[in-house]
Amino acid sequence: MNNIRKIGVFTSGGDSPGMNAAIRSVVRTCAYLKVECIGIYRGYQGMIEGDFKPMGARSVNNIINKGGTILKSARCQEFRTKEGRQKAYDNLIAAGIDAFVVIGGDGSFTGAMIFNQEFDFPVIGIPGTIDNDIFGTTFTLGFDTALNTVVEAIDKIRDTASSHNRLFFVEVMGRDVGHIALNAGVGAGAEEILIPEENLGRERLLESLKRSKESGKSSSIVIVAEGDKTGKNIFELKDYVEDNFPDYDVRVSVLGHMQRGGSPSCYDRVLASRMGVKAVESLLEGKTNLMVGIQDNEIILTPINKAIKGHTKIDKELIRVSDIMSI
Ligand code: ADP
Repeated sequence: MNNIRKIGVFTSGGDSPGMNAAIRSVVRTCAYLKVECIGIYRGYQGMIEGDFKPMGARSVNNIINKGGTILKSARCQEFRTKEGRQKAYDNLIAAGIDAFVVIGGDGSFTGAMIFNQEFDFPVIGIPGTIDNDIFGTTFTLGFDTALNTVVEAIDKIRDTASSHNRLFFVEVMGRDVGHIALNAGVGAGAEEILIPEENLGRERLLESLKRSKESGKSSSIVIVAEGDKTGKNIFELKDYVEDNFPDYDVRVSVLGHMQRGGSPSCYDRVLASRMGVKAVESLLEGKTNLMVGIQDNEIILTPINKAIKGHTKIDKELIRVSDIMSI
């Protein structure tokens, strides 16, 4: 044990389901280990403004099942400046906070790493993002819930698609990575999955759709990750397919921010609980500048700079499975 007596916790950047479960875990682990816990509202913005509130074990009752984040999240330009970070540091010191747990994505971790280097302040990260794009963990908090949300939405779209012999393009989140598209696409039985990591071209998409029509399919679902480059955007892709393949009535559905909301899945709640415990225990063991992750069902630690700089790879095996399933 070192001399950490008070730990701050906050959520930052894009929100994701499971953040509340992680806050709960950090707060309760602190209570269990008899260290004080302080909730910092609105991420780095609240740190700069000194928006702090002590949190005891009972302050996180009934939040494990809630989407969003009770501590609110924010993007904060001022924290990108040295002056902003100095204000944040002064507030933390004035409140007697010795270390913090940041729940967020790679932007939030970059901020934490810079802060750690400047002030030698102990920090540990918990990866909270639906995109699953953080190196050092097989799953980020919120990814599993987002997959379930997407699959449920596509199941509904499938009902209307098959009633009208329609082809649906469904856009899901993922500006740089196709993890949501690929996993939800396989889970929802999509005909084609278009992801940023692979650009097979518009002609091949057309061929595949023609082939499936000839094989007797009367409706199809194509999942498109936001960052996919097959078309300029999903609407342009729809026009291209309609122009070249008039047999289908083509529709577009953009799922948007609904993917970030909702009650977290059991998997995300358990993951959040495990990660929160590890984060607090690690700080108390004198560890810092690390991110908590999960690999082979073990909770592990990765240096934050590696988590930020590393790249997550798309699951090639899943691409193969998807190709076989769409015969
Ligand atoms: P996410 O954590 O979801 O990736 P952002 O990229 O918006 O979200 O980052 C969240 C916040 O982290 C930013 O609003 C900013 O306050 C802080 N941050 C991000 N990058 C830096 C940086 N290079 N230096 C300092 N703070 C940063």
